[in-house]
Amino acid sequence: AELLVTGELLKPGDLGERLTDFSQPLYLDGQPFSNGLAIGRAVFHEPKIEITHFVSEDITVERLRLHDAFDVMRNQLDHLIASVEVGNNNEHREILETYKMFAYDKGWHARILELVESGLTSEAAVERIQGEIQTRMMKTKDPYLKERLSDLEDLSNRLIRVLMGFLGEDEHEKLQENSIIIAKSMGPAELLDYDRTLLKGIILEEGSPTAHVTIVARAIGIPVLGRVKDVLDLIESGNRVIVDAKSSKAIARPSDEIAQVYKESLEQQQSLILEYEAQKNLPSKTQDEVDIDIYINAGLILDLPNLDATGAKGIGLFRTEFQFMVSSTLPKSKAQKEIYNQVFKSASGRPVIFRTLDVGGDKVVPFLPRQKEENPALGLRAIRMALDRPSLLSYQVRALVGVSQGQDLKIMFPMVTELSEFRAAKKIVNYELARIKKMGQGLPKSVEVGCMLEVPALAWQLPELLKEVDFLSIGTNDLMQFFFASDRTNPKLSNKYDFLSPAALSLMKFIVSQANAAKVPVTICGEHGGNPLEALALMGIGFKRFSVNPSAVGPIRMMVRKANISKLESFISPLLGSPKSSIREDIINFSKENLIPL
Ligand code: PEP
Ligand code: MG
Repeated sequence: AELLVTGELLKPGDLGERLTDFSQPLYLDGQPFSNGLAIGRAVFHEPKIEITHFVSEDITVERLRLHDAFDVMRNQLDHLIASVEVGNNNEHREILETYKMFAYDKGWHARILELVESGLTSEAAVERIQGEIQTRMMKTKDPYLKERLSDLEDLSNRLIRVLMGFLGEDEHEKLQENSIIIAKSMGPAELLDYDRTLLKGIILEEGSPTAHVTIVARAIGIPVLGRVKDVLDLIESGNRVIVDAKSSKAIARPSDEIAQVYKESLEQQQSLILEYEAQKNLPSKTQDEVDIDIYINAGLILDLPNLDATGAKGIGLFRTEFQFMVSSTLPKSKAQKEIYNQVFKSASGRPVIFRTLDVGGDKVVPFLPRQKEENPALGLRAIRMALDRPSLLSYQVRALVGVSQGQDLKIMFPMVTELSEFRAAKKIVNYELARIKKMGQGLPKSVEVGCMLEVPALAWQLPELLKEVDFLSIGTNDLMQFFFASDRTNPKLSNKYDFLSPAALSLMKFIVSQANAAKVPVTICGEHGGNPLEALALMGIGFKRFSVNPSAVGPIRMMVRKANISKLESFISPLLGSPKSSIREDIINFSKENLIPL
């Protein structure tokens, strides 16, 4: 719903130096870490605890107090990790284990103890050390370090709560129906502390799109708006709050009229979700009987139930790096195998494409040494890194091959720039297959090796490449950032260049035409394919396979069932020669005239 109410709302800057007026509505800008819409009442994650005693009376007693508090906090975490429904969920557990590791960090403990020995109370010592850490945090540019330090901050707060007699286990009681959590930052364990049926959304003052808490929130479908400046000072506990992550904003204290508009939009979305569910077994076939295959993207075990829930054809992109990103050490072969096994099991015969490790750039892995790069997105990432340290790729491929007995194994490589890279990576797969065969272990039923097209240069090697790949998958997120020279993580650029431009669509058509002529299956697995409008345009230039976020399966299927490919083709073809920088409006009009739901 388009809201024409901006006039009555204030932006934080409008208040100047004055104090926040908590009776007024307020728009807050942030970054969408986990998409979705939520309306509820603000609940502060950790009300700030004021420390009242700074100097200890008896160092021996204080030493013991600190020791006991560490014990209690560690026990709480152990208990949490054992009890929260992590069950057999390995990756999920890994996230928590990494977090727990900090609770046992000797250096951190020693620094606090040192201050206690010098006469501070334990809580004052914890706070002082946290302050020091924060100062350092402001300076570091390393996103990984930043996230780990914010995990540590959560633990400090936990420790202070224990020391001051708040045991921190009453989180569930604080929540009422439709709660929106407001926090500076949050650890993944803390998110899982809350009752998921009551928690509807999260607003963070800090956070990052790759933080553990973000990964978990996305997997369990809780909208998160992050990096909302000064949010702790601008919202009061109990305020009505709207989290509209998709539009990168939140509204505090909306008027009844605005709240009503959002409520209706939320209800509409919920009824649409029911409609999508009812349609999940209907064929995704166009009006002129063309089959369009819809797959899902996945990366965590938590994502797997989405296959059945959406009725998707399979997993078109399994991002294997997620398990590496949430682990403090290299996931051992056994742990990797368990995950791949579970993926095969959940898919029960539906196709799954495993993408090999795609790290570097904005995807940070804790245990790999990283050299500072001037332009990490253009750096030694993905397949480049894998070929630079081939043992890592072999290790992963060995695990994959090891659990593929009797399965259709599909592997693809990210960020291939040259044919030679594909060949080198494929050689590793063949080597591991030969090894298994020699050892007399069970082989996969079939093996297909494919390649992602994310670097423009590869588009001009297609005649040769298409002879060697079993399938192709287009990562439009990266392809477009390189095509438009426009950083995919920079929010200031996110709406600058349009995918629905003659330029970008001509490139896409150039690719799909060659793949179709060579009869090599080609899928769109970037985010663009999950938008019905973009997917419609892509169908109009020849694409028939999409791998999308699970929540996009319903909308795409609904759109497909009303579309007519031949009509679409004759509409879009002449537009590709248009001098405009965007043909978005034209396609929107086309969909309206043809009653295609978007
Ligand atoms: C892409 O780049 O479009 C893609 C699917 O890969 P990722 O988003 O994981 O980089
Ligand atoms: Mg990519």
